[in-house]
Amino acid sequence: MLDGSIIRKLESIVGREHCQSAPEELLLHAYDAVPSAPPAMPEAVVFPADAAEVAAVVKLANQMRFPVVPRGAGTNLTGGARPIRGGVVLSLARLDRILAIDGKNLQAVVQPGVVTDALQVAADRAGLFYPPDPQSKETCTIGGNLAENAGGPRAVKYGVTRQYVLALEAVLPTGELTRLGARTLKCVSGYDMVSLLVGSEGTLGVITEATLRLLPRPAARGTLLASFARMEDATDAVAAVLQAGIVPSAIEFLDRFAVACVEDFEPAGLPREAGAVLVIEVDGVPAEVDRQQAEIEALLKKRPGAACRSAADEAQAERMWKARRAVGPSLARLAPHKLNEDIVVPIANLSRAVSDIHRIAAEQNVRCACFGHAGDGNIHANFLVRPEDPGEVRRAEEAVRRTFQRVVELGGTLSGEHGIGTTKQPFLGLELGAEVMHAMRAVKCALDPNDILNPGKIFPAETA
Ligand SMILES: Cc1cc2nc3c(=O)[nH]c(=O)nc-3n(C[C@H](O)[C@H](O)[C@H](O)COP(=O)(O)OP(=O)(O)OC[C@H]3O[C@@H](n4cnc5c(N)ncnc54)[C@H](O)[C@@H]3O)c2cc1C
Repeated sequence: MLDGSIIRKLESIVGREHCQSAPEELLLHAYDAVPSAPPAMPEAVVFPADAAEVAAVVKLANQMRFPVVPRGAGTNLTGGARPIRGGVVLSLARLDRILAIDGKNLQAVVQPGVVTDALQVAADRAGLFYPPDPQSKETCTIGGNLAENAGGPRAVKYGVTRQYVLALEAVLPTGELTRLGARTLKCVSGYDMVSLLVGSEGTLGVITEATLRLLPRPAARGTLLASFARMEDATDAVAAVLQAGIVPSAIEFLDRFAVACVEDFEPAGLPREAGAVLVIEVDGVPAEVDRQQAEIEALLKKRPGAACRSAADEAQAERMWKARRAVGPSLARLAPHKLNEDIVVPIANLSRAVSDIHRIAAEQNVRCACFGHAGDGNIHANFLVRPEDPGEVRRAEEAVRRTFQRVVELGGTLSGEHGIGTTKQPFLGLELGAEVMHAMRAVKCALDPNDILNPGKIFPAETA
């Protein structure tokens, strides 16, 4: 419980107008993007102006023993930004500047509150390219992307956020302001602390600045839409494209249920009769794009039950991508409380994983849509529930548990990009052995002996 003297100290660090404790302000920071998770009220919300203020807040928290929960845009899908033990939400919203786009070194230096799309636009204006492209990029922040190691459709060719982080400035849980990594393309001086912080879900440090790698902007892009009579034909085709030696920048999958939802919500001309469709993108120099596009089209047309067409122009390509982007909103319209998982399996097991998830959903009698980043084996399995039907909620939760179990049996992982937060905690033990969990907890304990930063996240309570 924060008493008045702590609130006054917080006000003296960030300024009175940047320390909120009015109920409506607290309520705004009690949620993230998990609709089924109950609100978790903070006791104060602070909006520091710079890294020194962040460090002072965290130092105070460590002295006075209250929780600090870093927050970007609150779009995470695992309950990670909710202050489940109260304390202070530390919003990075005011650290929102792009400090440099360095064309000579192909780097950007940014503060954590920069919206991902704003960085992509700034890089593009300089003829450069920041590849990580979470579908929430117009809202989510670089700090949140770093903390979740966010991915997106382009990860199949370009990898996830971690691949683009050279150096970080971060406040450790005991309040020290540190610089980790180096502004060089290679760095093996000591432990890889940058990798430790990326994906640590705000539990090991508050990121206050990042030096990110940029690439030259691809000169051209090509987009294809392929439909398949059976779902398995689509998932098998993913492996066939990759085995042919072509690395598209994206291979996105929509099952029949997802296609129907999109067509009901925002008709895009997707074939409703298809078992599944793929949206595929290639990029590079124009001649290479043309070659890859033609090769993929020829390869897919030979596959069983397949039809494939290339976008003739930007407008057609945009229509294909609009259909893909409409999946999340169209499902949310149907079932705002859907359970949204982001499992990953090795590509060779993709067909089995997707058909097993559908079988599990049918056995549990819940509606299910599978879609997402099939090119790297990352599928969003969405189970649609009506919260007013507790039986359905229980059946959907059992479908999630059985899905995770099956995914681990297939050599996969619980999460490719959304993290563990609170929603996946009960299942972490399915994937990680007791020894690994113990080692991870030891790391947390060494850096955060008083459990100040985002406590209660990632690890299930019984292993505490
Ligand atoms: C419609 C929709 C589509 C999405 N699509 C994708 C997708 O394609 N790929 C994908 O990867 N994710 C996706 N997401 C999930 C989400 O957008 C990402 O997890 C994103 O990285 C979260 O960023 P944020 O700024 O909203 O962070 P928040 O939700 O505010 O925080 C996320 C976590 O990061 C921590 N954190 C935030 N800032 C910092 C910081 N500066 N230092 C330390 N810790 C910090 C928080 O404590 C929390 O644990 C999607 C979400 C939605 C709603």
